[in-house]
Amino acid sequence: MGTENLILLLIEAGFYFVFMVGILHLRHQLGIGVFIAALGVMHFLETYLAAVFYVELPFGVISPGSSVLFSGKLMMILLLYVKEDAAVVRAPIYGLLAGNFLTVGLSFLLRHHQTVGAVPGRIADLAFIDEMGWLMLWGTTLLYLDALGIILLYERLGRVFKKSVALRFFVSGVVVLTFDQIGFFAALHFLNGAPVAVFWGGWIAKMMAACVYAVLITVYLHYSRLSAIPVSPRPIADIFADLTFRERYEDLLDRSGRDALTGIYDRSRLEFEAPRVLSAMLAEGKPLALMIIDADHFKDVNDRFGHLAGDGVLKEIAACLQRTLRSGDRIFRFGGEEFVVLCEDIAPETGTSRAEALRRAVETDIRRPDGLPVTVSIGVANSYGDGTTLNALLSAADARLYAAKDAGRNRVMAA
Ligand code: GH3
Ligand code: MG
Ligand code: MG
Repeated sequence: MGTENLILLLIEAGFYFVFMVGILHLRHQLGIGVFIAALGVMHFLETYLAAVFYVELPFGVISPGSSVLFSGKLMMILLLYVKEDAAVVRAPIYGLLAGNFLTVGLSFLLRHHQTVGAVPGRIADLAFIDEMGWLMLWGTTLLYLDALGIILLYERLGRVFKKSVALRFFVSGVVVLTFDQIGFFAALHFLNGAPVAVFWGGWIAKMMAACVYAVLITVYLHYSRLSAIPVSPRPIADIFADLTFRERYEDLLDRSGRDALTGIYDRSRLEFEAPRVLSAMLAEGKPLALMIIDADHFKDVNDRFGHLAGDGVLKEIAACLQRTLRSGDRIFRFGGEEFVVLCEDIAPETGTSRAEALRRAVETDIRRPDGLPVTVSIGVANSYGDGTTLNALLSAADARLYAAKDAGRNRVMAA
């Protein structure tokens, strides 16, 4: 019976070790957060088992929560420190502290509920919540001291026996786990009435755990030095890699390339987007219309009413153009008081009438401070006839814009 339990415990320790060291070893591919989160999640099972789950061994009564999981966690924290540094190991130490205080705080609130027996045969064990609370609080404080202690001791021991990593892990483990056993047993004794036999059984089990983990860690460190996995700069590709990338990319795209005054996209964004839209349209055999819109006599607005008033009018023009466009059309601020509009899948005649709609909208909606209408002139080009590059379309539209200005302004010029 006792031997069977001992063998099971060894298997559990081996399983825990291989699993945790596996994700620690792959931290460059998975991210260190995976290891740290797993370490944190284990804390609940650990505390639960240490509070109520005891098994008999040839030398006494012990809990896998303390011997396998708690001892293992301390060794993992030390191993993380050895593989990384103090800055990294701080995260789980403070994270466990914070998470455990939160657990205790919530348990304190939870026990004020009137609970109902919704699951047949099960009633909430409030005494257990209370106990978990106090035990967690105490265990948490001890864990914090243990974690700092085991790292400091390991460092200190480096001066005495530099060569033997196994011995350093083992001695640090023995000292800190003994300290912990005294502290934790005291709480178990006073809160749960645990008998003294539990102290000795638990202590022996923790010493065995320190020994087993020290050996396993030494084997691992030796092996990982011999066959270090080449660190790939690319993290393991999974759904999250795509999600993070896409979110960041879209966020960046949305924030960049916007014009500060009008809030619409700027010229750099036009140069980024237009070639993509163009090739998509060409691939589908659909036409693309491009317009250049230039405010008429805008210098006059500035000269008479000042630059700030001019800015206000520019903003209004941009907003007016934007609300007059169809969904799928794109507008960019091309220069001072010049805008470019791209309309997908628009034949030349439709492009001209859409430009006419824009011209009319500005003329009817926008007023200068003195009440006179603001007007625009528009040159329109189309990929059916004017070329299939951004530059070809821009120069065709620009030439027509000049023609519109020459013809008296406030008009649309197309092919
Ligand atoms: P037209 O186009 O009809 O030939 O006459 P225009 O007076 O509009 O001439 P042009 O397009 O050459 O001049 C553009 C003027 O727009 C020059 C500048 O005073 C004004 N402008 C350009 N950018 C801004 C801006 O950001 N804010 C303000 N307030 N004015 C600007
Ligand atoms: Mg102008
Ligand atoms: Mg201009």
